[in-house]
Amino acid sequence: MSVNTSDITNRKSFLMGRKKVVVITGGAGFLGSHLSDLFVSEGFKVFCVDNLITGSMNNIQHLMNDKNFEFIKHDISKDFRISGPVDFILNFASPASPIDYLNYPIPTLKVGSLGSYNTLGLAKLKKACYLLASTSEIYGDPDVHPQKEDYWGHVNPIGPRGVYDEAKRFAEAITMAYHRYHKIDTRIVRIFNTYGPRMSIEDGRVVPNFIYQALRNKPLTVYGKGKQTRSFCFYSDLIDGIYRLLMSDYTGPVNIGNPTEFSILDFARLVIALTEAKSKIEYKPLPIDDPRQRKPDITLARKILKWKPKVELETGLKETIAWFQNSKDRRKKEKKEVVYHE
Ligand code: UDP
Repeated sequence: MSVNTSDITNRKSFLMGRKKVVVITGGAGFLGSHLSDLFVSEGFKVFCVDNLITGSMNNIQHLMNDKNFEFIKHDISKDFRISGPVDFILNFASPASPIDYLNYPIPTLKVGSLGSYNTLGLAKLKKACYLLASTSEIYGDPDVHPQKEDYWGHVNPIGPRGVYDEAKRFAEAITMAYHRYHKIDTRIVRIFNTYGPRMSIEDGRVVPNFIYQALRNKPLTVYGKGKQTRSFCFYSDLIDGIYRLLMSDYTGPVNIGNPTEFSILDFARLVIALTEAKSKIEYKPLPIDDPRQRKPDITLARKILKWKPKVELETGLKETIAWFQNSKDRRKKEKKEVVYHE
């Protein structure tokens, strides 16, 4: 994937001189591996750090022989060092789907807290620019719609989703503390529902679940009445936004997502239509604290990054469906699905 970087301010000054070095934690995951591709193709040296609890070597196998790519299997909630200079740290390590963070509640809390602490320590040591992958989940079940960066959110700290939401809220707080106290150059991207090739078919999120079910003509499991909404962003748009944010000088949080909002029921119908499946809809109980609505306000990203999403849902979904049809990873392993219902 290539990103049109021509109108990114400050890029030249960042990239002049010796080869730049970027550390990507969670680099074998869905988004981390696409970022690894981008930075290798842009001429960076990439250190990809991942403990592989939810990431997959399949996502980075094609990079393993590249001299500018180095994989380090490591859990960033434990201390780690990298020798030599580091210019950028992109902290993307975390289970990121409700099923995964319910399966790994303590590692999710540890990676968001201790992992952010450790990687910020590395940024301080190396005087590196630090980008935190935050999330729309920090808004919880929002009572402000669409969500703007100045909304503080509505999160249940003790519910099952709290392990992810609060870990990310802590990660934002410690990132800002390092920025204010240690003068670290920081960025915070709040990522809204993103989909595309390399999502794990078994992570339980709505996009892989529905595609998996539709490709087998199985019923699509709509939770609740399917009236809850999400706004889906194709991965290439998100990666473009993240690159622009990194190369900007904006330190506050920025929403990156596609503001086109769908009900989950309409989304299920679209997946059935695009796959030409014979699937029916099967209603299942709504998970606890499932946000009723979600849609990013992207005024800030439009203004400061000159960014907006380009890929329509239908186009992105067709590419994702084709990938799931052809990918080696598409087989679903038996895994305990922990969904806490109302
Ligand atoms: N969902 C659903 N059926 C599924 C998986 C998810 O109806 O098989 C719903 C889920 O309840 C939520 C929405 O789809 O309202 C998006 O869920 P996802 O797990 O993708 O991410 P979230 O946005 O909740 O973090």
